[in-house]
Amino acid sequence: MSAQRRAYDVVVVGAGHNGLVAAAYLARAGLSVLVLERLDHTGGAAVSARAFSGHPARLSRYSYLVSLMPQRLIADLGLDLRLASRSVASFTPTVRDGRPGGLLVERPEGARTAESFRRLTGGSVEHEAWDRFYAEVGELAAVVAPTLLEPLPLEREVRDQVTPGIWRDFVTTPLGETIEARFADDTVRGVVATDALIGTFASLRDPSLVQNRCFLYHLVGNGTGEWRVPVGGMGSVTDALTRAAIDAGAEILTTAGVSGIHAGDGGAEVGWDDADGPHRVEARHVLSNVAPWVLRILLGEGEDPASKPVGSQLKINMLLERLPRLRSGVDPEVAFAGTLHLAEDYSQLEAAYDDAAAGRVPAVLPGEIYCHSLTDPSILGDAAAGTHTLTYFGVHTPAHLFDADPVAAKDLAVRRAIESLDQHLVDPIESCLATDAYGRPCLEAKIPQDIERDLAMPGGHIFHGDLDWPWAPHRTRLDTPAQQWGVQTDVDSVLVCGSGSRRGGAVSGLGGHSAAQAVLASI
Ligand SMILES: Cc1cc2nc3c(=O)[nH]c(=O)nc-3n(C[C@H](O)[C@H](O)[C@H](O)COP(=O)(O)OP(=O)(O)OC[C@H]3O[C@@H](n4cnc5c(N)ncnc54)[C@H](O)[C@@H]3O)c2cc1C
Repeated sequence: MSAQRRAYDVVVVGAGHNGLVAAAYLARAGLSVLVLERLDHTGGAAVSARAFSGHPARLSRYSYLVSLMPQRLIADLGLDLRLASRSVASFTPTVRDGRPGGLLVERPEGARTAESFRRLTGGSVEHEAWDRFYAEVGELAAVVAPTLLEPLPLEREVRDQVTPGIWRDFVTTPLGETIEARFADDTVRGVVATDALIGTFASLRDPSLVQNRCFLYHLVGNGTGEWRVPVGGMGSVTDALTRAAIDAGAEILTTAGVSGIHAGDGGAEVGWDDADGPHRVEARHVLSNVAPWVLRILLGEGEDPASKPVGSQLKINMLLERLPRLRSGVDPEVAFAGTLHLAEDYSQLEAAYDDAAAGRVPAVLPGEIYCHSLTDPSILGDAAAGTHTLTYFGVHTPAHLFDADPVAAKDLAVRRAIESLDQHLVDPIESCLATDAYGRPCLEAKIPQDIERDLAMPGGHIFHGDLDWPWAPHRTRLDTPAQQWGVQTDVDSVLVCGSGSRRGGAVSGLGGHSAAQAVLASI
């Protein structure tokens, strides 16, 4: 299908949720906007899908929880979107001295959390350390969160607003050192550490501090760091944004894969292909929702294998006939209501990193489980009573582990993920899986290579590349609106509007918002 005009104020390459946010803001400001998407639907990694034939359940196939999308953005765009709180933050099953137990963290935390810490650690010291630690994280979050919809703050402006010890422990010291100094219990240390490793392949002591940046993103959302369940699944976020963009006057073409961008500082020509053949359109501004590594190819620079991002997660989607019982006797509706940590003791996280860095699928695979349908059964449709969705997100499975023999390595990783869950269950998880219309178990697994193939995220990196600090480091050039909003490229007419922009990682809309503001500030 052709675009309605030959020239637009803005062409957005990619209709991921960030591209849609940018399109909605800019069309509302009166600009002509065309969005080009290679797939036959919008949303990128923020979609729901009927993953299993014969079942109506619509699973959040890739991303599943929302924390970083600011309430103000939701209000600005008038999004019809409900984000539900979970009553449990996390449950971590343990086996100590042969006895099954666990650490329960409620939301909000109360007497059961304190009691759970006491039972696991034998006193209140770890719980007190936990309270102090997260109070400090809260102080940092309270400073960072209000800046996210503004031009980038300078690093020193953020630093000067927090206690020096907090800046040192969370921003300049490898997070592992901070965790080791603050906590003694291996399980407690691990529960704290996991937020640093989602989609990020690093040791907790990595001097690059990429793990600290990942940790910060997981704790600052809306100043609380709460991860909420999008009611209706992740597709409801995209549906609301698609509606907002179209209602504001943006044009969205799907099955329109962009093949090249010929850009100068005064504008650009964008080429794309669909079933009718090649098309071209002119734009004053091009916003790239694709990863910066992909953008460079579209700009004609060629592929650079050395700088290609490396994704590191294993995502498994499951549909269950019933929730499994736990060996600890904890009610499954409590254990699975929040994040269920598996093999995520601190020492296990570091051992798994060492295995993977040495080219082996970790012998004990760390990961976490999430059950959407306990908080929001609406995604199940008219499924039989007792049906639930279950998602596993494994860490420390970098893409290179699967290069030589993807099928065998993926089977091994899935087996290890299941082992880490089954050791805490009375009912092995495979005995609880529903079967699809062909009698196959309802389980699909996605390694980084699958994510790259499905979504064109290079290397299957869920953030389009490693996360940056959400502020302007010392000596950053901040001369243009694009630089001030952290969305610049080497060409003035092309800006980044996706996860690869400075504050873009995750389902936040921040990449799209920043790029839209930079365009508006430049005209
Ligand atoms: C398995 C998984 C789990 C995750 N879990 C979470 C989570 O729970 N919470 C969270 O906040 N984040 C999560 N993330 C990260 C988050 O989903 C992403 O950071 C975010 O969705 C990226 O959004 P985006 O709009 O910037 O880019 P994308 O979603 O990558 O969208 C880019 C779009 O560009 C399109 N495109 C690519 N190339 C072209 C081309 N040549 N022409 C036209 N279109 C093109 C793609 O098809 C895609 O639609 C997860 C990601 C994955 C993969």
